[in-house]
Amino acid sequence: MSDPTSDSAPGADTPPRRRGAGPNVPPVFFSFGAPRSAPRADAPDADAARAEALRRIREFSLKPREIRDHLDRFVIRQDEAKKVLSVAVCDHYNHVRQCLEDADVQARDYHKQNLILLGPTGVGKTYLVRCLARLIGVPFVKADATKFSETGYVGRDVEDLVRDLVKLADGDLDLAQYGIIYIDEIDKIAAKAVPGGVRDVSGRGVQINLLKLMEETDVSLHSQTDLVGQMEAVMEMMHGGGRGKKRTINTRHMLFIVSGAFDKLADLVKHRVKGTQIGFGRSDAQAGWDDTRFLREVQTTDFITYGFEPEFIGRLPVRVVCEPLSVEDLERILSSSEGSILDQYGRDFGGYGIELHVTPAALSEVARLAHKENTGARGLMTVLERTFRELKFELPSTGLKKLEISVDAVRDPAAALKAALASCAADQSRLERAEILQFVERFAKEHGHALVFTPAAEDRLLALAQTTGKTIRALCDDRFRDWPYALDLIARGGAGQTFTVTPEAVDEPDVVAGKWVQDFFRQARPAAPPAADAPPPPEKGT
Ligand code: ADP
Repeated sequence: MSDPTSDSAPGADTPPRRRGAGPNVPPVFFSFGAPRSAPRADAPDADAARAEALRRIREFSLKPREIRDHLDRFVIRQDEAKKVLSVAVCDHYNHVRQCLEDADVQARDYHKQNLILLGPTGVGKTYLVRCLARLIGVPFVKADATKFSETGYVGRDVEDLVRDLVKLADGDLDLAQYGIIYIDEIDKIAAKAVPGGVRDVSGRGVQINLLKLMEETDVSLHSQTDLVGQMEAVMEMMHGGGRGKKRTINTRHMLFIVSGAFDKLADLVKHRVKGTQIGFGRSDAQAGWDDTRFLREVQTTDFITYGFEPEFIGRLPVRVVCEPLSVEDLERILSSSEGSILDQYGRDFGGYGIELHVTPAALSEVARLAHKENTGARGLMTVLERTFRELKFELPSTGLKKLEISVDAVRDPAAALKAALASCAADQSRLERAEILQFVERFAKEHGHALVFTPAAEDRLLALAQTTGKTIRALCDDRFRDWPYALDLIARGGAGQTFTVTPEAVDEPDVVAGKWVQDFFRQARPAAPPAADAPPPPEKGT
């Protein structure tokens, strides 16, 4: 079975941490992959977290403005999307609260505010929803629509998403039923019109399956293809343990958000808008419109022409367009959004005691290069990864305390690394000498032999570390790997246990150790007894 998510660049999808004031952020229940852990019924902390999350949902009292303000802290631009999402989410969870307070409300008809987000990749669609789920404290799963098949036997079954929510809530159905399901690349399941007028059935089938979920349906907790789960359920039933236990979960209170880049949809809208205006003398009204602006005019008919079932698109009443990000937006993401990818680099270097400082000009350069990638904010990750790759590998082993990234460093990371290494050469040599001492201590503890490196031998090791790119620890462990056997032999022969390591011993450790053993036994060999037929020793005085 395929993983429902594929977009998670490490770190970029790390949930943001709270910094300032704002609504309290509850425990996090979200995943970008099928949750793997089995329910942890015995984890008291998890129980308490779930109970707290449920309490917050049942007492939901956030206002759209509060939610928008919260999103503003993390997500740059997308003002329209923030507003629309805030209102939809407030409506949804207010309705949930009302249903819980009053059973009559539950019985009344309610049109769910499922949403469709349109916009290019990497502009914050997922990020917005993830920040929302985190704020509200509901479980959140994300999947790519392309991973699903109509039957669920080839790809995933759309119902697996609901089961993922349950797993994410540690089997707590009460909590899982209020979760958010986010499906990206929804445009890829538009049934394509193929020559001859026949439409691609599998996309249509997936739409129909999703349709049921988005409205309201009971989903079995075990999928048809999950044989182990099915057998466990049967066993439970047979042993009476499953009696009274719920085997399904209802999707009535789950919020569905779908998104996609919808390439070509703007063209359809353009066509329609311009077509309807012929003869009205207003055909130039949209002269300055870009694709995003045309997408704002999207209507149900456009989605249907694009390949969606009218019933499917009808279940997604809230539509919002996310805008492409400019160079300035990308720069702002780096400089002022909380939990940005740059913060993460700062923390990574901080973990090694290195303070990272990026100049404003370097930020602009990163944003400029990232914009060229044409992948929205994901371009930032690409450029930063390129800039920091070698630095992150090499600098933690040096004594460097502060790393400054300038425009030049972004343009030429190799030169930046060279300069950083040169700036901390003295510190590095001190650290490496300390590593030699650590090796000596470890060697004495583990093998009972004292080694003393001469200053020249230390220099030799440092030079080797430089030329081979290896750490002192790795070099010592490798070079002196066989010494314990040789030194044990000498020690057992009763010799002192201190050995002086010279540059020659660093270069040819085995030859030198062999020589030590030979010399020792040569010196220690007792004088040979006289042979029986040997002539008697000359008498004294003769
Ligand atoms: P998509 O629009 O394809 O769903 P994502 O929301 O997954 O893109 O964006 C990827 C990452 O880029 C996010 O996790 C976030 O770190 C960053 N990002 C994207 N857009 C924004 C934005 N508008 N403001 C701040 N960060 C953003």
